[in-house]
Amino acid sequence: MKKLIITALALSAMAASAEVPLKIYRGDQRSDTVYSSRQYVVGVTTPGATATIAGDSCHVYRTGTFGSAVDLAPGENMIPVSVCIGNSRTTTDVRLVYIERERHQTAPTVTESLGAPLHLRTLPGAYLQYGNGGDRLGGSKMGYIDSGICLTAVGKTENLYKVALGNNAFAYIPRSTVEEGGSGQPIVNSGSASITSDGKMDCLSISLPERVAYWARTEIDPATIKISLYGVTNNTNWLTQRGSLGMVEFVDFRQEQSDVLTVVLRLKEKYSWGFSVGYKDNTLTVGVRHRPASLALSDLTIGVDAGHGGAFPGAWSPSGLSEKEVNLDIAKEVARLLRQAGAQVVMTREGDTGPSMTERKQTWLRGNVDLAVSIHNNSSGNPLASLGTSSYYKHISNRALASCLHESMLSLGLADFGLTGNFNFSLNSPTEYPNALVEVLFMSSLAEEELLADPDYRKQLAAKIFQGIADYLELVARD
Ligand SMILES: [Zn+2]
Repeated sequence: MKKLIITALALSAMAASAEVPLKIYRGDQRSDTVYSSRQYVVGVTTPGATATIAGDSCHVYRTGTFGSAVDLAPGENMIPVSVCIGNSRTTTDVRLVYIERERHQTAPTVTESLGAPLHLRTLPGAYLQYGNGGDRLGGSKMGYIDSGICLTAVGKTENLYKVALGNNAFAYIPRSTVEEGGSGQPIVNSGSASITSDGKMDCLSISLPERVAYWARTEIDPATIKISLYGVTNNTNWLTQRGSLGMVEFVDFRQEQSDVLTVVLRLKEKYSWGFSVGYKDNTLTVGVRHRPASLALSDLTIGVDAGHGGAFPGAWSPSGLSEKEVNLDIAKEVARLLRQAGAQVVMTREGDTGPSMTERKQTWLRGNVDLAVSIHNNSSGNPLASLGTSSYYKHISNRALASCLHESMLSLGLADFGLTGNFNFSLNSPTEYPNALVEVLFMSSLAEEELLADPDYRKQLAAKIFQGIADYLELVARD
């Protein structure tokens, strides 16, 4: 007891003479006022220092960060934070004011009905979404549709029109992707259809008197592409197949509702290599890619995306690492490994630039990629947890790719944040090539940031992404 008092006196005597660096990390928090009693206090000091928060000693990571959870009492709380190297010590108080309040629910978006139906025509970049909901990635997308399609709006929200696709089918479309005009949603008969192979794709053409809205999606087991055409009655009495097809086993037309015609393309193979849907004049054309002639990486083109960049840093880690630089470093290493294996690589950015999502997708389309992977790092409110790695896909046909990437990442012994489907991320929306997103680790986690700050560990992470791509190709070759 006596000894402890002496030590404390010695330290307080030193405090005035030397300073140990100490910065409190505030993240996005702009004010001292908080609305939940459990908070995280994170500090940054010199690696090798010791640290305490509210008297409890904390682990100091190699990045110099340390943190602790604190439980606040209502009103003002002063939490002492102290760092120490040898006899030098720096102490500060973190002020947090906890105000108890009811959790408020955000009001649901209201759709107002339009007095009279409004006629619209789609512009380039138009897409349909299922409802008027949304989150930070926007409302859940049904898919992109071509320009020049006439629609009838029956309702609106602040940013969306509700459009009637049929008697029992409604969708929402961003107001910024349509113009007023046209004659409203047409009701038409489908004309003749044919499918033929051009050697790289099977091309289905369906003649229609006008452009109609459509919804394309994939199914697995068995692998199928389905395209619903709205306002269309089946009058296709000729469905001609010329020559042998590379990927499509058969095409079938099904009148699912009196005004919804669904075109079913059953695939010969278990894994789809992508498809495109659009109009040439008023003819709906569906291009279904064949499996590449060789699945050797040396015969393939792989798209690699480093998330964020330029003016868009993405998430910041507590010690000041930006997501955009970590993403780029890992992506470049993935690209290097792919090129070393003989692959062509199409990167969406090679330096500190911030192309838009549309530009990134165009880069991959122009580069005719066989598959593509986007690389990001995650962020959460809890700096003390190692939440781990996660992979994402939107279309069910891309689940196997995302799963191979995820399993490969988990083989490093990382925590499992999950394999996530139906994900609304923009670079997961294209149907033209298989694609997936890897959220490598959490920038916001003190322990995972320490891993991400280590150049050698970033190389290991990149090697696992490379391996996940190789595993997927092996799976497709085997099945
Ligand atoms: Zn990100």
